[in-house]
Amino acid sequence: MHLILLGAPGSGKGTAAADLVKIYGIPHISTGDMFREAIKNQTELGKIAKELIDNGKFVPDEVTCGLVKDRLSQDDCKKGFLLDGFPRNINQADKLNDILKELGMKLDATIDLDVDHKLIIQRIVNRRLCSKCDASYNLVTKKPKKDGICDVCGAPLIQRKDDNEETIKTRLAIYSEQTEPLIEYYKKRNLLITIDSNKSAEHTTNLIVEALKKFN
Ligand code: ADP
Ligand code: ZN
Repeated sequence: MHLILLGAPGSGKGTAAADLVKIYGIPHISTGDMFREAIKNQTELGKIAKELIDNGKFVPDEVTCGLVKDRLSQDDCKKGFLLDGFPRNINQADKLNDILKELGMKLDATIDLDVDHKLIIQRIVNRRLCSKCDASYNLVTKKPKKDGICDVCGAPLIQRKDDNEETIKTRLAIYSEQTEPLIEYYKKRNLLITIDSNKSAEHTTNLIVEALKKFN
């Protein structure tokens, strides 16, 4: 299965991705996670990405596309992949077409998680993540059993630096302007699957699995 997961920040991409990679046994390729890892390890890439990400801006396309190309060239991607957070604009989508052609791969579908923008800010400001295992919580809809502690592994929960109301507004504006046109882009190529992501994470995953049945 060769998939792209599309959707606004807070649309539930991360949670759906975690479910899908388990179900289909494919690698999860999240450019956001790769950048955060680079920042944590203070690599050259991390230095470029930090300030941009903290302010809700994009990392330059050349950097992002190079990173994705390297990742897709690795052996584990031969059985497929789930791209999460990439492509994020038309230029990246065109570059991805070139990369896939070069690697002899073909996209099966682009899944667009459709969510009411009013829900997004609520979801993001209340989002908390495990500092160790990446499990994701929401202080309103999916509280941890013990305040500030991960149910899965017991490590402390953290809030992403870019998950504040100010930065979210920038991220949403850039999303509408640059990423939303990809919906039309993939629709034209007959690759788009639109999924209602306004309900629970579980509901979203079930809808995706149902829609992907025709590829099994
Ligand atoms: P979210 O799912 O909340 O939108 P991500 O974890 O996917 O956030 O990405 C976090 C940040 O990393 C983005 O706001 C952006 O600064 C940077 N980033 C991630 N993917 C890309 C990309 N494909 N192109 C440019 N910047 C990116
Ligand atoms: Zn944890």
